[in-house]
Amino acid sequence: MSFISRFAALLTLLLLAAASLALHAQENSSSSFVITGAQLADGTGAPLHLASVRVQTGKIVKVGSFLPAKGETVIDARGLVLAPGFIDMHNHSAEGIAADPLAETQLAQGITTVILGPDGGSVWPVGPWLEARRKDPPALNLATLIGHEAVRLAVMGENYKRAATPGEISKMAALVEQSMREGAIGFSSGLEYEVGSYSSTDEVVALAAAAAKHGGFYETHIRDEADKAFDALQEEISIAERAHIPVEHSHIKLGTTAVLGKSAEYIRIIEDARKRGVDFLADCYPYDAWHSGLNVLVPDKQYENPKSVEKALADVGGASRITITNFAPNTAYENHTIEDLAKQAGISPVDMYIRIYREGDASKTEAGIIGQSMLESDIKAFYQQPWVMVASDGGIAMRHPRGAGTFPRVLGLFVREKGWLTLPEAIRKMTSLPAQRLGWKDRGVIRENAVADLVLFNPATVIDRSTFAQPFELPSGIEKVFVSGELVWSSGKPTGARPGKIIAK
Ligand SMILES: [Zn+2]
Repeated sequence: MSFISRFAALLTLLLLAAASLALHAQENSSSSFVITGAQLADGTGAPLHLASVRVQTGKIVKVGSFLPAKGETVIDARGLVLAPGFIDMHNHSAEGIAADPLAETQLAQGITTVILGPDGGSVWPVGPWLEARRKDPPALNLATLIGHEAVRLAVMGENYKRAATPGEISKMAALVEQSMREGAIGFSSGLEYEVGSYSSTDEVVALAAAAAKHGGFYETHIRDEADKAFDALQEEISIAERAHIPVEHSHIKLGTTAVLGKSAEYIRIIEDARKRGVDFLADCYPYDAWHSGLNVLVPDKQYENPKSVEKALADVGGASRITITNFAPNTAYENHTIEDLAKQAGISPVDMYIRIYREGDASKTEAGIIGQSMLESDIKAFYQQPWVMVASDGGIAMRHPRGAGTFPRVLGLFVREKGWLTLPEAIRKMTSLPAQRLGWKDRGVIRENAVADLVLFNPATVIDRSTFAQPFELPSGIEKVFVSGELVWSSGKPTGARPGKIIAK
């Protein structure tokens, strides 16, 4: 080798060393780290595999088999699973998030993004509310739907107990469009609830179409999840087809004795619609009991008619299946079933229902109830459909165990204990499947250039611990949670960081 070529080789070595030093300096910045030793459930449903993940300035920049650079911060995750942060498609934290921006019960489950405004009930107006969150961000990401009830009340006021006129429907559609321009990501309805229940199918089609114009999707708590659940499903499918909009069926369930066990038939109708091209996805919470208001039990709204109430209680399997969760006018009712309360009062369960209804009506308060009326076999059948995702229908301060337990419960109970789902498939239902409905390409998956919303959990111990009696008991097994690469949950508590993004359409 000549002197000149030796000199060139030396120079090359020196340059390489300098470049490597510069790289180390960059990686040593506080926002850069490598997670090593974890089994990856990357969100796509692919089998678990060992890989390292490098995170830099909020993004995943490298995935695969590589060694951390010298001096780089390393998180040793041997024995843990690394997954994309969970996206909760149906979350009722809009009220709670301002008071509890650290969202402990949500982070504790591995949730990194909540979709607010379900069931037709959203914040109003959308723009200023989102702006307030941007100025005072929470620990996790959020996005909101615009709710049917919100625009219906804005246009019709107290005079909503009737079909809307064509003029009122156009005004509502304009408000839906305005909300979409202000950042809403879709339109939600709660057709079983008081305000939405008076609307015609045409009204809902018009409002869904207004959201579709702006690239939104339609999320719905359908008109009936009980005796008329099949009619309500057909209405939902026709709304999606007529409004040309992707649909998200909220908390799929069959909740009364007339329809229990009919999940196969229900699924077939949805499969047929999907084959016709309807973009239909659904979500399901992992509990056989539901949480709602006292009135929802009596679909014909004859709350003081003993015949209607008697049928309503029979349909859910009896008054022992209904527990009062919260009732400000008479807190002594809380945590008792209607059957227990009737016995204590020495009256029939029907009379007890009417008594609670009247006490509530007098102070304009509807009792919160939990109804135990679903079959495990139906829940299992729904969970095993590839188009059904996990969502909580919970949220901050929700007095149903799903508010603090949903995601760990699916991983611990349905995956590990019952074997209904593989772990990668369950993770897909918590990450890339909701991201697909949202049209988000850079979340819900672990790959280079995706946002570093991540959760590390122990697959051997992850489990919910919240119960109807102790709804805020935190789950175990969720070790670390990152939002945009910032650690928000570690050692069983929030870190205090609040890097949450407000995600708008
Ligand atoms: Zn609902």
